[in-house]
Amino acid sequence: MEVNEILQIVRGSGVRLVMFAYCDSSGIIRGKATHVSGLERRLESGIGSTTAIQAMGGMDQLQVVNGMGPVGEFRMMPDLDTFTMIPYAPGRAMVLTDMVTLDREPWAACPRDFLKRMLAKAASMGMTFQAAFEPEWYLARREGDAFIPIDESLDNSTLGTTASQDVIDDVVEALEAQGMQLEQYHTEVGHGQQELSITHSGALRAADNQIIYRETVRNVAWQHGWLASFAPKPFPDQAGNGNHTHLSAWDAGGERNLFYDPDDPMQISEMAYQFIGGIMAHLPGLTLLTSPSMNSYRRISPGSWSTAYICYGLDNREAAVRIPSRFWGSEMASTNLEYRPADSSSNPYIALGGIIAAGLDGIQRGLMPPEGLCIDTDPARLTPDELAARGIKRLPSSLLEAINELEADTTLTDAMGPLLADSYLTVRKADWDLFSQHDADFEIRHHFYKF
Ligand code: GLU
Ligand code: MG
Repeated sequence: MEVNEILQIVRGSGVRLVMFAYCDSSGIIRGKATHVSGLERRLESGIGSTTAIQAMGGMDQLQVVNGMGPVGEFRMMPDLDTFTMIPYAPGRAMVLTDMVTLDREPWAACPRDFLKRMLAKAASMGMTFQAAFEPEWYLARREGDAFIPIDESLDNSTLGTTASQDVIDDVVEALEAQGMQLEQYHTEVGHGQQELSITHSGALRAADNQIIYRETVRNVAWQHGWLASFAPKPFPDQAGNGNHTHLSAWDAGGERNLFYDPDDPMQISEMAYQFIGGIMAHLPGLTLLTSPSMNSYRRISPGSWSTAYICYGLDNREAAVRIPSRFWGSEMASTNLEYRPADSSSNPYIALGGIIAAGLDGIQRGLMPPEGLCIDTDPARLTPDELAARGIKRLPSSLLEAINELEADTTLTDAMGPLLADSYLTVRKADWDLFSQHDADFEIRHHFYKF
């Protein structure tokens, strides 16, 4: 989109405020709005923000990171193609932004730029990526200190779709109005838990969509008097909220799915196996990029379909990577890998960038996944000896463990670059230091509707 096109859309539309938004390293969507009178100038030169934002822990406590403090500023530079009117808030519009230095270079701490860098690396290897997120979330209200789900319905129960119909229908309408193509809707296992999935698109657009999606769901729910919780485990005794991430690699023209091989027993290519090999090798550290909050590790546990083990398998929902069975009649097009230890407290650019960095490393090193990691049963059913014989290990079981694993994974931290990696690790540690001093109620209260 051109600046003029945006100005034309906005003119006469009643829009007064245009939000310049981004997602920070703690997974928080932030931004500043410009009044429409300054829109043209700001579309061209951005809006300034303090560099300190990228050193804020999940509770806005500024951490010590070089170059991120009271001195210094980056510019939120809009990606004009992401401009959208906000259907649930007439009078407002939004555009997503990159973090740019005052020298007009991408800021090394910019999560969106990290994903772009990984996509450029993939392009240099002749690959483009399609991706889709599959967010789960709860509808609930707050009563005193307690959160009460909208219903007590069961998995896929049509009863639950009745209880939440007004909210869901308005969410669907608002997503459609923002150009998003929807896939499926159903209620999930948890009381009041929902899943509404979006069709895949180019990886950058998929991450942008996740931001627009979270904004839309939270705001529409709020307007109906409900809180939408994307927290990984908002109710300790109910199912967690995953954000399973689907990926497929295509040739430069986007015509051939490079993960597809009809002659393979699981119908995936050698390149797909190597991509899985990279994910398996980097999963301990990668988990921090896709499940980054204290609350993430309340979700990741055996027997809850969040996955808890480093393994993969065909249609195996307890494996960290599931190879979904194909749609009849579109086998090539529907071939993809589903990465499951992911939740919506993550920054979608960092999560996708990390998964791609791990997978590309697998391809570059020709890393076939060890045979024992391919599993057609729930790994939790195997004895410790059986797991050891197969070489299947647990995913990190705490935020601290995941932090230590990422710190040790120089492939991933090198891919992120020192500033993004250091600031990311610092804010994650700050969250660990804070939340490990408190109980589950405190943790849940401060994660429930932040994401
Ligand atoms: N809610 C589960 C999770 O935490 C996933 C359930 C499903 O397979 O959709 O990831
Ligand atoms: Mg689900």
